[in-house]
Amino acid sequence: MKAFTYQRADSVTQAATAAIKPGAKIIAGGTNLLDLMKLQVETPSTLIDINRLSLDKIEDTPDGGLRIGTLVRNSDLAADWRVRQRYGVLSRALLAGASAQLRNKATTGGNLLQRTRCYYFYDVTKPCNKRNPGSGCAALAGFNRIHAILGASEHCIATHPSDMAVAMRALDAKVETVNGEGHTRVIPIGALHRLPDKTPDIETSLKPGEIITSVTLPPPPPGIQVYRKVRDRASYAFALVSVAAVVDSMHGRIRSARLAFGGLAPKPWRSPPAEQTLVNASANTTTFNAAADAVLEGASAFGGNDFKIPLTRRTLRSVLTELTRA
Ligand SMILES: Cc1cc2nc3c(=O)[nH]c(=O)nc-3n(C[C@H](O)[C@H](O)[C@H](O)COP(=O)(O)OP(=O)(O)OC[C@H]3O[C@@H](n4cnc5c(N)ncnc54)[C@H](O)[C@@H]3O)c2cc1C
Ligand code: SF4
Repeated sequence: MKAFTYQRADSVTQAATAAIKPGAKIIAGGTNLLDLMKLQVETPSTLIDINRLSLDKIEDTPDGGLRIGTLVRNSDLAADWRVRQRYGVLSRALLAGASAQLRNKATTGGNLLQRTRCYYFYDVTKPCNKRNPGSGCAALAGFNRIHAILGASEHCIATHPSDMAVAMRALDAKVETVNGEGHTRVIPIGALHRLPDKTPDIETSLKPGEIITSVTLPPPPPGIQVYRKVRDRASYAFALVSVAAVVDSMHGRIRSARLAFGGLAPKPWRSPPAEQTLVNASANTTTFNAAADAVLEGASAFGGNDFKIPLTRRTLRSVLTELTRA
């Protein structure tokens, strides 16, 4: 690990002012950042510890939603009774992630900004456009079992690893930020993570020094919520395919649907065409197959991850069957 300076922030503005300096990096739970530092994938000159800032509250918003401070730990968020009652998809997604010990440490902001689990990104001896722009992408012709089938580019086919972010995408969460000048911004979660295109090293729409302060959930949408994660082991593994779904149906007819996917793309993936296919349709296999076709329109696999295409189809069909059974 390379030497670095450690600084504890006393206020959000102080943290954001310090974070804008080249080489500075915010540390929250540290469960992703420290691993990357040990491998010298990340080599910050300064760590700005935000753990003493009072950004660890979950508060009701006047419209019936929730504001989640960036330092709320994944375990606390999953266990909060309002989240369990009103946003079951989020609670389940959180509990499907990592391990109990990691969830006790991992924070809301850190989870959104955790970096890809692409093997080659972690191996500094291999070419990787995300870690070292212009060096190439070892995954394209290498082991790409866990890689993207949607939204990737010829420069990077990595997926975003967060479960929590997928549920938040289905719930239309908004991310609140502050920069070093004290300016605040609200970013819809769908606009937080960027697709790789030619610059896979630029992963989010955050500006230098911009810090996430909280995430706001709008009032819960109507319908039943579910998070289904398909992975290699029953726990402690990242999603190969995951589906966050909120579906409102009555007497076999679907009234509204929200679908977000993990493990498929470089960002939590929402599929408006699939949702439109479902609305006002009968809840049956023909409809579910049409929704899967819509999600997978334009999907392309790279050999090792070919299986994700039929797996996505089957997982979605199973989730929709479960949600519309009543
Ligand atoms: C073995 C293992 C298994 C895992 N399995 C899963 C899984 O199945 N599903 C899943 O979703 N996750 C999984 N994770 C990832 C884990 O959820 C993340 O490491 C964690 O959520 C990151 O949160 P953190 O607070 O520790 O972030 P940190 O490591 O502190 O930070 C992560 C990044 O976010 C930045 N950052 C943090 N907070 C802010 C902020 N407020 N503003 C701006 N930048 C900020 C940091 O600078 C850093 O770049 C796993 C991790 C491990 C080690
Ligand atoms: S898929 Fe992306 S992260 Fe993985 S090696 Fe290629 S450029 Fe790097």
